[in-house]
Amino acid sequence: MRYICLGAVLLSLNFNMAFAVQDRPQGVKNSWQTLSEKLDPLADVEQIEVDNIRLQSYREHPGLWVNVTAGQSIAATAERYEADLDLVRKLNGLGEYQTGFPAAEWYFIPFGESYLKSLSSAGVPLRRKIKMQKGEYLWPIQGSRITSRIGNRWGRVHPGIDIAAGIGTIVVAGNDGEVITSGREGAYGICVILGHGNNVSSRYAHLSAAFVKPGDKIKKGQIVGLSGNTGRTTGPHLHFEVRSSNIVLDPEMFLPSFDESQESAMRFEEELRNTKFD
Ligand SMILES: [Zn+2]
Repeated sequence: MRYICLGAVLLSLNFNMAFAVQDRPQGVKNSWQTLSEKLDPLADVEQIEVDNIRLQSYREHPGLWVNVTAGQSIAATAERYEADLDLVRKLNGLGEYQTGFPAAEWYFIPFGESYLKSLSSAGVPLRRKIKMQKGEYLWPIQGSRITSRIGNRWGRVHPGIDIAAGIGTIVVAGNDGEVITSGREGAYGICVILGHGNNVSSRYAHLSAAFVKPGDKIKKGQIVGLSGNTGRTTGPHLHFEVRSSNIVLDPEMFLPSFDESQESAMRFEEELRNTKFD
């Protein structure tokens, strides 16, 4: 486990903050859980699936975001995943007569049915299924820890939480929603903002790549981009914010407790890395 911000925390002379980071159990304060336990505990449970390094989703299609080189053959790339060529073109806004990808970029390749079958028969674990309360947020980085909480930090307000993540870690949507913006945004670097209705939004900042486009409908657990080090940062991590009518809230109030959610995610990721598939 890496603690990207540890050096920075030790350097700051704010010992109260340093102790608070160590002592307070992660994600312990969860208003959704407390509220729903008082009501019917089973009434609002939903099952969601979480994208991972092997299997992702975009516009309801299973597949993978692939980083191509400029001019790389669209047909050959589709074939590698037994994908429908027309669907590859449609999902990525490519013209009917284009033969090569126009730029070195990330494109979504939807898996053909036979490719999906070969994944599961090779024993590759598919998306992790978890039961959650509706409205409760999923940790946007799976299997990692908070390195900086919301609040005052070095004389300025930190409007969200930082979650440890090396460059290129999968960032998933905390809740169902629609993409409001996706791209460069000042100190936030490459940033995705999702709207969840009722003026509630979540943002995912300092990304190395943003995959989703404004207007895309997003499912909880769907990949939105990759973590990075863009904008004003002290090192690679994910900055995660939740706002209501543009007022910043503490994202930890909406996340399940660290132990029950993140430890099982860590075990799943480990299993995934240990499964060989080509
Ligand atoms: Zn931050």
